[in-house]
Amino acid sequence: MINVEQLTKTYGKHEVLRGISTTVEKGEVVAVIGPSGSGKSTFLRCLNLLETPTSGQITFDNTVITDPRTDITRIRQRIGMVFQHFHLFPHMTVMDNITFAPMQVKGLSREEAHETALKLLARVGLSDKADAFPSRLSGGQKQRIAIARSLAMDPDVMLFDEPTSALDPEMVKEVLAVIQGLASSGMTMLIVTHEMKFAREAAGTIYFLDGGLLVEKAPPEQFFTKPESERAARFLEMVL
Ligand code: ADP
Ligand code: MG
Repeated sequence: MINVEQLTKTYGKHEVLRGISTTVEKGEVVAVIGPSGSGKSTFLRCLNLLETPTSGQITFDNTVITDPRTDITRIRQRIGMVFQHFHLFPHMTVMDNITFAPMQVKGLSREEAHETALKLLARVGLSDKADAFPSRLSGGQKQRIAIARSLAMDPDVMLFDEPTSALDPEMVKEVLAVIQGLASSGMTMLIVTHEMKFAREAAGTIYFLDGGLLVEKAPPEQFFTKPESERAARFLEMVL
């Protein structure tokens, strides 16, 4: 689904990504972990070209998206992204938040968009919130709406950048449960997270980033019990 070859990103003299190569298969669930500043967000943002890579090549479903001739807008529609801070449209109801892009960008009729939105609201457990404004929702509810809004575009891949880091502890579970459900449904996903228990249970592959490098890539059992690198072992000692 996604192939990354020798991806680098520099800001001025600062090499934030220093040559990342990997392949994400369709249906694969990847948890991206690593110390603060290791390049996790930059890596995710490069995948849908929210950041322009400095060098390297990214292929998405057989299209080289780092090729300047590629229609990025079309590709972005197929890659959903959910952020730490939910970025809902504050002046729109939940229903309008979810139906806006499908109607404006994909040209769905109001009825079609509405029908999809109702299904997604049920899926994230918030059927009763269609007419609410974001300001009336808890953080966990806002994040679940942000996920539903992203899914409304029917993406092939979902990217999550610390989706629970801004939430009060009691709301983390409800959001992780939604993401876990998505994982079980076969969605291809990359999730930057500090929730190690969740990473271990929900992911098929762990990426450990440190200093802009993909230091380790392994199934969770292997990574959490026998990390290969000294750096990963030290990181796990700090967080577990
Ligand atoms: P992580 O998500 O793992 O904490 P980031 O990808 O956000 O790491 O950042 C990696 C490094 O790149 C950090 O040192 C950060 O300061 C730097 N960085 C990120 N974005 C920018 C930017 N737009 N301009 C300059 N430096 C940046
Ligand atoms: Mg980050």
